Amino acid sequence: MQEGSTLARHTKASGRRAFTAPPNPNGTRRSHRAECDRKPVSGRVAAVVVAAGALATGVGATGGLGSGETQFLPLGASADLTAALAHSAAPRQAEIQTVHAVDPGLEAAKLMRSEGLLAKQHVDEAIKYASDDYTARQAELKRQKDAEDAEKARVAEEQARIAAEEAAKRPKVVKPAEGTFTSGFGGRWGTTHYGVDIANPIGTPILSVMDGVVVEAGPASGFGLWVRVRHNDGTITIYGHVNETLVSAGQQVHAGQQIATMGNRGQSTGPHLHFEVWINGSQKINPVGWLGERGISL
Ligand SMILES: [Zn+2]
Repeated sequence: MQEGSTLARHTKASGRRAFTAPPNPNGTRRSHRAECDRKPVSGRVAAVVVAAGALATGVGATGGLGSGETQFLPLGASADLTAALAHSAAPRQAEIQTVHAVDPGLEAAKLMRSEGLLAKQHVDEAIKYASDDYTARQAELKRQKDAEDAEKARVAEEQARIAAEEAAKRPKVVKPAEGTFTSGFGGRWGTTHYGVDIANPIGTPILSVMDGVVVEAGPASGFGLWVRVRHNDGTITIYGHVNETLVSAGQQVHAGQQIATMGNRGQSTGPHLHFEVWINGSQKINPVGWLGERGISL
């Protein structure tokens, strides 16, 4: 009996699980052990036996066994090898065969490890994509905000430029009201008239003659209602007999801004504006000269 056949019987006798391969064209069956039964040591033993079996087959081919006779087949060292051998129909000539001893547990561990690495790579990539996406969105938001800020700054600059231009064009001193000059500064009817009178219908606009701050807007003895404005140089201008005040104390006004309407309140002989100029806030002077020095004639 051949050595390989003995080994095959021994394998069955040992009680290990075996399976039957498909019949080969010769009608014989081959015996193989299931891969999962073996341990690394037996795998190495199998490799040795395979080599021996291959040698035996060679001997058989040259020393007695004819083609078609039962052929010794080495123990499969792996499922793939087993399958490959199971389907090899033709008798094989003696040749060197390489068989790998495989530890299923180790292979499974390797597989799990590679799967684990793959999963980790996927997670890392997902995190990276999410992170990149977040970073990109933050960058986009920042870019939008920067653009908005730049636009706001540009608009503010433009508004400031327009305001400066308008301020530059705005007159520094204006006439307090249009109308007829009806009375001048000085002695009148046995008393002193401390201002000038400009007559026009009720409701005629009354303007602040210069930039300044409203110090008073309301009732005043003899004037009915008045408005007083302090200018930047400390001069105060008085607007009396007004019909309606349009500003309030503390309010910033600019030259030419309407602050009241012409009226006939208080000791008045008809609708007109009584206008006074107080130098340093108290010294009443002739408004005609003061306005004339500033290019305004009444
Ligand atoms: Zn007057």
